[in-house]
Amino acid sequence: MDIMHRPTWVEIDLNALRHNLLSIQKKIGQQIKIMGIVKADAYGHGDYEVSRVLLRHGVAMLGIAILEEGIQLRDKGIQAPLLLLGGIFEEQIDTVIHHDVIPSVYDLGLAEVLSKRAQYFQKTMNVHVYVDTGMGSIGVRYDKAVEFVRSLQEMKNLSIGGIYTHCSGSDERESAYTDLQISRFRDVLAHLDAIKIRIPLRHMANSGAIIGHPNAYFTMVRPGLSLYGLYPSDEVSRDIGVRPVMCFKTRIIHIKDMEPGDAVGYGRAHTVAKPTRVATLPFGYDDGYNRLLSGSGQVIIRGVKAPIIGRVCMDQCFVDVTHVQGATVGDEVVVYGSQGQESISVESVAKQLNTIPYEITCNMSKRVPRVYVNGYKDEA
Ligand SMILES: *Cc1c(COP(=O)(O)O)cnc(C)c1O
Repeated sequence: MDIMHRPTWVEIDLNALRHNLLSIQKKIGQQIKIMGIVKADAYGHGDYEVSRVLLRHGVAMLGIAILEEGIQLRDKGIQAPLLLLGGIFEEQIDTVIHHDVIPSVYDLGLAEVLSKRAQYFQKTMNVHVYVDTGMGSIGVRYDKAVEFVRSLQEMKNLSIGGIYTHCSGSDERESAYTDLQISRFRDVLAHLDAIKIRIPLRHMANSGAIIGHPNAYFTMVRPGLSLYGLYPSDEVSRDIGVRPVMCFKTRIIHIKDMEPGDAVGYGRAHTVAKPTRVATLPFGYDDGYNRLLSGSGQVIIRGVKAPIIGRVCMDQCFVDVTHVQGATVGDEVVVYGSQGQESISVESVAKQLNTIPYEITCNMSKRVPRVYVNGYKDEA
């Protein structure tokens, strides 16, 4: 670890990442391919480091949300196929071609420009058709998809390597809507089959569908959250055996004994009622720790949970350590993760904030160093 960095860091367990990938592969079976979703800096875990581990352990492709993510991965030397899941503007097409990123196509006008630019550069562009079966985002409507694919086939220098759709509710207990989306996608594929158009990669399942909808596997699945060891909601079964990859840690930077009547933090939101030992921790909302956890979050010190008191500041926060035997400056503090018998899961923090686990890890600020542990020697 770089000894100069501030003592607040995110630990990324590459062994857990490998384990999760293998657990997902086991769940879906060996014949189904995996596209590792590494958008949003691999949900805050570090896209380059995560991509290297995933590729080494057999993922077929990587999925990104915006073109810049693809450029960065290419610049760092990642050569694997990259599918751009988000939409693109015409002005970005040359950059897409130049960086060999696979665009999602869902609009004929855009596809025509792609074809023209590909001809200009004398390249054949691999594209994946994005079908909207009920998500309502970019994507060609399922009832227009066959016609769309036929038109694409007429365009020069485009090769349709894949076709996919996305579930909007695979994290829900109720499965009717996902089933409807699956059947719409199957219909599109069946119609294409009937006119002898067979697109090699057909994919649909995100983590929720990998867990609960085996009939959504087709030829490839697209896990994101489950690779990172988290479950999309309480409503899905927790039987794929993944474990958290991210742990958020810091160290106590200061301890002070306070007297009844002393106030802690902005707005004097907390006033101590009895003699209290208060530890200052060197992280705050700029590190991605939500200010709504003021007075309600918890951390673990010496294997004991300690409550956040007062408001979370931009760069620091305060915990009551009166009951933590021997707490001292320099003690390691776990904010998300486990220590001793205790743990604070990202899911539980998400629930407390009335949001989803995705937002918690994505929000880990870039100023918090990522420390990679349990990697192979030539990884990370
Ligand atoms: C983000 C994303 C995924 C991954 O979803 P998880 O719920 O994190 O598994 C899969 N497919 C598409 C199109 C996505 O945008």
